[in-house]
Amino acid sequence: MRTYEEAAHVVVVGAGQAGYQTAASLRERGHRGRITLIGDEGVLPYERPPLSKAYLKGETDETQLWLRPETFYERHSVERVTGTAIAVDRDSRTVRLADGSAHGYDHLVLATGALPRNLPVTGHGLRGVRTLRTLRDADALRKGLVDAEHVVVVGAGFIGLEFAAAARGLGHAVTVVEGLGRPLARVTSAPTAEHFTRLHEERGNELLFGQGVARFHDDGDGRVAAVDLTDGRRLPADLVLVGVGVTPCTELAEGAGLAVAGGIVTDARLLTSDPRISAVGDCAAFPHPRSSTHLRIESVQTAVDHARLVADRLTGTPRAYDDLPWFWSTQFSTTLQIAGLSRGYDTELVLGEDSSSFSVLLFRGDELIAVESVNRSGDHMAARRILGSGVPLTRQEAHAAGFTLKGHLKARSEGTVPVGV
Ligand SMILES: Cc1cc2nc3c(=O)[nH]c(=O)nc-3n(C[C@H](O)[C@H](O)[C@H](O)COP(=O)(O)OP(=O)(O)OC[C@H]3O[C@@H](n4cnc5c(N)ncnc54)[C@H](O)[C@@H]3O)c2cc1C
Repeated sequence: MRTYEEAAHVVVVGAGQAGYQTAASLRERGHRGRITLIGDEGVLPYERPPLSKAYLKGETDETQLWLRPETFYERHSVERVTGTAIAVDRDSRTVRLADGSAHGYDHLVLATGALPRNLPVTGHGLRGVRTLRTLRDADALRKGLVDAEHVVVVGAGFIGLEFAAAARGLGHAVTVVEGLGRPLARVTSAPTAEHFTRLHEERGNELLFGQGVARFHDDGDGRVAAVDLTDGRRLPADLVLVGVGVTPCTELAEGAGLAVAGGIVTDARLLTSDPRISAVGDCAAFPHPRSSTHLRIESVQTAVDHARLVADRLTGTPRAYDDLPWFWSTQFSTTLQIAGLSRGYDTELVLGEDSSSFSVLLFRGDELIAVESVNRSGDHMAARRILGSGVPLTRQEAHAAGFTLKGHLKARSEGTVPVGV
């Protein structure tokens, strides 16, 4: 006998990483009802990470970004609809699109992602001042880089630094302006941030810390000509990338009267305040056993694992979300991988003598909460297993001479780590 979920019409709004994965995972798990995937970008669902890396440098083309070719959606009866969802009527369980069409649902999944923040300063709308989120943004930046003479990045987060690295690879010496005292200040430890500062400086990029943007200066023809900093300095600029974070797309949820607080609020099963509506990926603010507050995580891993959980629930296997967060970033030929959540760490321990290949273990009290690995993917994989399966690791053990994450994992699985080493 069919369960309710198997026959349900699932409508997914947002055809990005999380939206695509929800549809694909539903079919993988045997969902037999209709699946409608509504997206407003007018292209096949694609992966965003290469937009600030290989794609920006022209090393891959658009088709290589597609998560699946067009035939996948036909073969798996996923109805792709191009349009912008503008309202959800929860009483009639209908999503309305800007073109006037309406789609009824048994279950609705909001996978609307996030959009880059603008800098609210004079000149932010000038030509040449750009943000990076979509394929079209990346195309415009790629084009702009062809004849740009002075490239400035505002914000030394992952997007800003990855763009700066790619632009440097294309021959541009980039100036990165950051308001805080170091790069990646909200997302990595100081040793990792120092490594990336050095990396950029050695390659010829300039990083300016503790600097705000006062205004973007016009060339008299509606195009950016310079960036005025808060200390009075003027940087010449004909291409500016603003990478100062994103805002989750919550308008639909708010309009429908769902709980929204820094994201679409869900419970541990990723259900919103309406049990017929789930939220996944960048737009969702969800509880996690590793955090005392609701989290919103912008990563491929979270988008994919959220989608899988919702597909599990809708096909009859509900569970609480507790997947270990992990993330990566590539700049020049350096790869940073992060496992766990570093918020609230009080001690850091660097493993590895080589300044171009090391891991930083982050502890809260005596508990390992995150590991950042620079060019050490073996450490990253071991860290994911240690953190993900709750393998005990104390600070004292990590400080022991010759300690390695892989060795620790092996010893623990063989039961050979002496207590209180
Ligand atoms: C340049 C760049 C580089 C990145 N690099 C990395 C990386 O190296 N590693 C990593 O882990 N993560 C990286 N990320 C983050 C990662 O790509 C995101 O976390 C992930 O894409 C989130 O997936 P999502 O489906 O929640 O949102 P999105 O992929 O943004 O998809 C949301 C989709 O919903 C659509 N939409 C929104 N509202 C509506 C509406 N009302 N109607 C119809 N459609 C709508 C949007 O247009 C969009 O297509 C990067 C992101 C960017 C932008």
